[in-house]
Amino acid sequence: MGDRFQVIVDLDADDGDSEPLARRVREWLVAEGVVLGERTPCVPGQALGHPPGPHWERAVTDDWDFPPSDGLAVHTRRTGFTSGADMPGAALCPWCAASVALDDAASWPTFSTAMQTWHDTGAAAVVCPACAAEVPVQDWTWDEAPLALGHLGFEFWNWPDLTDAFRARVAAFLDGHRTAYLWGKL
Ligand SMILES: [Zn+2]
Repeated sequence: MGDRFQVIVDLDADDGDSEPLARRVREWLVAEGVVLGERTPCVPGQALGHPPGPHWERAVTDDWDFPPSDGLAVHTRRTGFTSGADMPGAALCPWCAASVALDDAASWPTFSTAMQTWHDTGAAAVVCPACAAEVPVQDWTWDEAPLALGHLGFEFWNWPDLTDAFRARVAAFLDGHRTAYLWGKL
């Protein structure tokens, strides 16, 4: 059945505040008993993560049918968060709402190069073909398979569905930053 993840991404954190914000959220999650403070090898693809705590059910919907089997990975470096192997079918301009199809030979390389540059340097823009705005690559939105570029992400592995209320409580610690919620399977 594979591993399922849910990730809450802070879209506005940067090198300067991702660590302190991560610490603030982590301390709250540990105080609530949602996860344990001591990290163990409990998340796929990462050396260490926070195992579920005694009150993990505070984070999830009531109708869960399995307890969390893995833990929480906290990412504090530039990361391209995806929903899995599928890439989005189109990028949507945040200024004019134009939809740029990503399935042709020209547009996908433009975006993927910009994402790589963002990952390496922290800044890259793609000019919107409709309104000519120079839009930072992390500000585009995506259809179908969501994608989020951010410096800070809280990734829960093999947990029941997180509630809207829990996600809002996490977001409330992030200084009013925009957040994205992605889920997928590996
Ligand atoms: Zn545009």
